[in-house]
Amino acid sequence: MVAQRTRDTGTELALRSALHAVGLRFRVHQRPLPAVRRVADVVFRRAQVAVYVDGCFWHGCPAHATWPKANADFWKRKLMANQRRDASTDSALADAGWVAVRVWEHEDPREAAGRVEAVVRARLSASAPP
Ligand SMILES: [Zn+2]
Repeated sequence: MVAQRTRDTGTELALRSALHAVGLRFRVHQRPLPAVRRVADVVFRRAQVAVYVDGCFWHGCPAHATWPKANADFWKRKLMANQRRDASTDSALADAGWVAVRVWEHEDPREAAGRVEAVVRARLSASAPP
């Protein structure tokens, strides 16, 4: 638990290759908006979709969240602050016309990719000229 956010985890890499496999192109590890400080794991600029692969521990996954017993108050504050930050990131993106898609690290990457693809394609077809 040294880094709050680990890059290129197995879930993230598998998700990226599943998205490539269905023909989507995207950028990785970018800020969707200059004003939103959190870097997204996968960014679709034209569709304005930002994907965050969230670690189960750090982001309080409902299936796997654990509360460390040592320094319980510290961890509770820290993990709840993370959740608040995630929510404020999502709403800042929404304010700018973007949508955030959150994927848990425990999710099946192919299922997650299907979810992301559906959002991206819906937004691209909605914005396409008639
Ligand atoms: Zn989980």
